[in-house]
Amino acid sequence: MSKVNPFEMAQQQLLDCANILNLDQGVVNILMQPQKQIQVSIPVKMDDGTIQVFQGFRVQYNNALGPYKGGIRFHPDETIDTVRALAAWMTWKGSVLGLPLGGGKGGVICNPKAMSDGELERLSRGYVRALWQHIGPDMDVPAPDVYTSGQIMAWMMDEYSVISGKNQYGVVTGKPVIVGGSLGRGDATARGGMYTLREAANEVGLDLSKAKIAILGFGNVGSFAASLAGEMFGSRIVAVSDSKGGVYDEQGIDIASLNGHKKKTRSVIGYKGLKTLTNEDVLALPVDIIVAAAPDEGAINGRIAKTIKAKIICELANGPTTPDGDEVFVKNGLHVIPDFLCNAGGVTVSYYEMVQNMYMHYWTLDEVYSKLDKAMTKSYHEVLDASKEYKINMRQAAYVVAVRRVVEAMKVRGWV
Ligand code: NAD
Repeated sequence: MSKVNPFEMAQQQLLDCANILNLDQGVVNILMQPQKQIQVSIPVKMDDGTIQVFQGFRVQYNNALGPYKGGIRFHPDETIDTVRALAAWMTWKGSVLGLPLGGGKGGVICNPKAMSDGELERLSRGYVRALWQHIGPDMDVPAPDVYTSGQIMAWMMDEYSVISGKNQYGVVTGKPVIVGGSLGRGDATARGGMYTLREAANEVGLDLSKAKIAILGFGNVGSFAASLAGEMFGSRIVAVSDSKGGVYDEQGIDIASLNGHKKKTRSVIGYKGLKTLTNEDVLALPVDIIVAAAPDEGAINGRIAKTIKAKIICELANGPTTPDGDEVFVKNGLHVIPDFLCNAGGVTVSYYEMVQNMYMHYWTLDEVYSKLDKAMTKSYHEVLDASKEYKINMRQAAYVVAVRRVVEAMKVRGWV
């Protein structure tokens, strides 16, 4: 899945922030490692009667601010280092948004595309049976991530409820609305990112109604971002890509029709007979904004960053840019909306789902959107202000805002 070790990347970013904040070495030592890592073996009876044993992880990074919170990935290339990095980023993500949550992440090494619904259900329930003592509404609250869905969350919630002997909707988020899911969770990550993009465009003086956008990774998040950028700002999506490559149309791509093509062929390739580009070609196109939404940590390294002509990088994916890629962005004056700020809309609405589950009182879509807009806009400006105050780039500033809060909580709790 990744070319660089994502956890080393996350640690390097944290060390950079520790220097800026002049953090005590003991504090840094705590923040550099997860508090707990659990690895489990999950036996699953497959449809052909054989037993297959899957490896699952849950990494609980830091809970100074509240219960651990973070998704579960089902992926054949999952590694503990990716899960560790994502758990660290979840800690900073919740914190930068000012949410009362810590950070965690989970994963199972499996190929969900080659599994039946029954096998996936047994795997999901098996994950909960193996980990139920470590999760819970006030302990650790998982959510969907790459190749996990609302249905998988419903099975997990049901298994946990059976084990606890009562309905426990709040044990996971991203559930279907009928079993305690929040309205607005589906496109929350992309929508939250678009709110930050609106603010960033304002900051750099870019007129979004005339902007050209390339989207790397036309999956769940990327396709919602494409539709929303058109809907909310009238921007032109001129290029999109997936794991097989990308397509480019200077005149703009009709996203509804592309969605139809992708549904039929499972790729953006071949759309309207357009030439296939590599993902590197897509990044080098003459566009104003790049939306990085591919689950390919470290895809934008120093060499590739030099080819980018866009003014704004909207990092909806986790960890798309390496530290040397960042150096190039700073040198070339690009405005980066860093991942754990840009893609925090998902966890923010997940938090809203936890609140609604606790109160058993559910909000309208307008209430969710308006709260999300306020939260993302406020956080973007806190990060922008920190970048100006400390004269640092936006990623460093996001770390400063997030790490400062976690450290303050650790201090008042008496951990350091
Ligand atoms: P997804 O699986 O729905 O979509 C990913 C898309 O990227 C697919 O179209 C895939 O073909 C494409 N892709 C894979 N490798 C690629 C590559 N090397 N170059 C270009 N495209 C590639 O996943 P998603 O849920 O949209 O998540 C995308 C990213 O956003 C991940 O980094 C994820 O961690 C992050 N994220 C997702 C959420 C969420 O709510 N789903 C929240 C926060 C962050």
